[in-house]
Amino acid sequence: MKEINDFLLNLYTTGIKDRYRTEIMFPNLKNGIVTALDLYSIIMIPENELCLKYSTNPKYPDAQRIISEFESKKRKSIKVKISDLAKEISKARIVIDKVSIGCEECKGSGEVTFEYEDKKGEIHDIEGDCPICNGEGEVVLKSNFARVKLDSKRSGRDKTYFINIEGLNFHPFQIYKLFMVGLTKGCDFIEIFYSKEDSQRTMSYFGNIKVLTNLINV
Ligand SMILES: [Zn+2]
Repeated sequence: MKEINDFLLNLYTTGIKDRYRTEIMFPNLKNGIVTALDLYSIIMIPENELCLKYSTNPKYPDAQRIISEFESKKRKSIKVKISDLAKEISKARIVIDKVSIGCEECKGSGEVTFEYEDKKGEIHDIEGDCPICNGEGEVVLKSNFARVKLDSKRSGRDKTYFINIEGLNFHPFQIYKLFMVGLTKGCDFIEIFYSKEDSQRTMSYFGNIKVLTNLINV
């Protein structure tokens, strides 16, 4: 549905009249790609995947260069569940994706008994640490998905709220927008690419749609 892509473009425009930068109030067409951006994010959608017609403003920021620069860096990625984002955005609850359960092997005791047959054929019972839980008595389950948590930091009288995803801190509204893209595209999770060489930016891909999201400093 191409109409959804037009909707997403307009989700990323500033919506605020900036008398110095009126050009970024509207999406911009360049080289067959339509871009929308604000101070924190950039979205790029191929022209042929959109319904509306967009014009070209020569004063428009060179967002394609910013994207290409970031894409040229060595990157890692984390996957974030749409459902986890939904929970944190609505602050319904904090998701803890690391849970401990009692070890079934040793029934939580941390110890197991095993048999050793000596050279004469005699059987000896030996007690030792459970090899499944390393003697802890419980097993830590680790999810393949990143931990998402609404967090805040106070500095003087100001309190900044942000969404922390495995140490990457996002402006809640920017995560809301990324979430909306993933949701409308029917994704179960969003893969977020980040780079140690550029600790300010992240990127995600939805088919031919590219979204760059800046991190915030807290
Ligand atoms: Zn055990």
